[in-house]
Amino acid sequence: MSVWQTIAAQIGELTGEPFAPAAPQTLGGGCINSAVRLSDGQRRFFVKVNAAARRDMFEAERDGLDELARAEAIRVPLAIAVGSDRAQSWLILEDIAFGRPGPGSARRAGRALAALHRRTAPAFGWHRDNTIGATAQPNDWADSWVEFWRAHRLGFQLRLAAHNGHRGRLQDLGERLLTRFDSLIDHAPCASLLHGDLWGGNIGYATDGEPVIFDPAVYYGDREADLAMTELFGGFDGAFYAGYREGWPLDAGYAVRRTLYNLYHVLNHLNLFGGGYGAQAEDMMRRLLAEIG
Ligand code: ADP
Repeated sequence: MSVWQTIAAQIGELTGEPFAPAAPQTLGGGCINSAVRLSDGQRRFFVKVNAAARRDMFEAERDGLDELARAEAIRVPLAIAVGSDRAQSWLILEDIAFGRPGPGSARRAGRALAALHRRTAPAFGWHRDNTIGATAQPNDWADSWVEFWRAHRLGFQLRLAAHNGHRGRLQDLGERLLTRFDSLIDHAPCASLLHGDLWGGNIGYATDGEPVIFDPAVYYGDREADLAMTELFGGFDGAFYAGYREGWPLDAGYAVRRTLYNLYHVLNHLNLFGGGYGAQAEDMMRRLLAEIG
């Protein structure tokens, strides 16, 4: 039995309706996984495939999509099932027909993100670990956001960077920042439900213009961490931020914290890809230390 037949049989069982798709349509990978569309001419499914050892990553993604869906704030693909055989693992998702954003789509996306952030937890973290890109992302619950950020975000990526051979100046700056960054978090954030990896490649618009977010790295944290990431690679449409502020205005001091929160992603990029991300991270840390004075 081919992997596609196994997946089709699983879909048939789960939906209670036999599913006999035509040959899989290869969609070219995202950043991490390869993807195919399975269709029998009537029903379509989007399937992400990776090595069997990545099953856990797909289970965390499924749980993250379920968590986002429960908030009923913004559309996410319905997560149908995770499966694996000896060689491969997969995540079966509702296949979204993506189109173009309509005139009000970006504003609607901003408002919907603010609504998502209104869903809160009593502490920071999540009930399970997940991944950010291909990197592990620990989510152990913490009562203090500062302690969560120190241990599970900044500290974790800095340790990983040391392990990957990025030592010297980067680690000196990192050590200084780790002991002093708490003065930058001079607001009292709620533990908001976050997408966790909200760059432009992880948001799209359905054919009716409805915003859809996908490929999350969910946890409960300062909502500014999600917004910061939207700005890391050039930023979203201005209407998106206007919509967000209509839903939930930003606290003073966001512009400085944005750099702190994006440092996590830049360090993650350093750990994943190396290259110029080291110099970028050092520059961000210098700017943050200058803010602390
Ligand atoms: P990866 O985990 O490999 O980074 P993504 O989840 O980002 O993969 O998906 C890669 C691309 O596939 C996205 O940019 C999007 O265009 C498309 N895509 C993702 N999820 C769906 C879906 N449920 N339905 C249709 N297309 C999707």
